[in-house]
Amino acid sequence: MIYIAIILIGILIYLVYATVNINSQVYLKAICKGDSSQNKIAITFDDGPNNKFTTNILKSLSKTNTKAAFFIIGKNIQGNETILKQTADEGHIIGNHSFAHSFGYDFNNVEEFILDTEMAQRKIQAIIRTTPLLFRPPYGISTPKMGRAIKQLNLTTIGWSVRSMDTTLKRKDDLWAKVKSVKGGDIVLFHDSTPFMAEFLEEWIPQCQQNGLEIVGLDELLNIKCYA
Ligand SMILES: [Zn+2]
Repeated sequence: MIYIAIILIGILIYLVYATVNINSQVYLKAICKGDSSQNKIAITFDDGPNNKFTTNILKSLSKTNTKAAFFIIGKNIQGNETILKQTADEGHIIGNHSFAHSFGYDFNNVEEFILDTEMAQRKIQAIIRTTPLLFRPPYGISTPKMGRAIKQLNLTTIGWSVRSMDTTLKRKDDLWAKVKSVKGGDIVLFHDSTPFMAEFLEEWIPQCQQNGLEIVGLDELLNIKCYA
């Protein structure tokens, strides 16, 4: 009896792990890192665009001559259209990060996942005039239904190998410790809703370069197409 209970608890833990961990590859094939024998890394920003911090982040990226990827929430585009256009115009990669980024996203059925993702695609397309091929699920969640939806939509799912936890930090200095182990091949997850991000990037990017790391776009790191 006790063995059956242990096995059932083990299965349950595995299913939860597979759902909340984008690196698990159980329900959704996600690319979470590049070739670690290279000295290249990519940086990514989720949850924008926003009119508080995104523009300053773009400024810091431009100053340091750095190309990044922005995973856009469809509903955040309204009122921030020029910021999204500027992001794409400045050569950054634009990906889909769902339309609603809703709480309970993981309980969607296949049709709901498809509708939500397509709605974000249309909003992004209307501004950047091209169709993103890259998708990152909210909260790094993956479910069997989401896996089927994203496969049907022919999108490439991008995860991360370094999660900076920037949204939980209060001070810029705390972020250094979170990304200190970054190495070749890594995909780093940041958010453009983090107030001190722009300032951090202007210090951290030159430090990466001094350490021999080259920050490149996801297309170059992973040798993939970002637009249809
Ligand atoms: Zn998000």
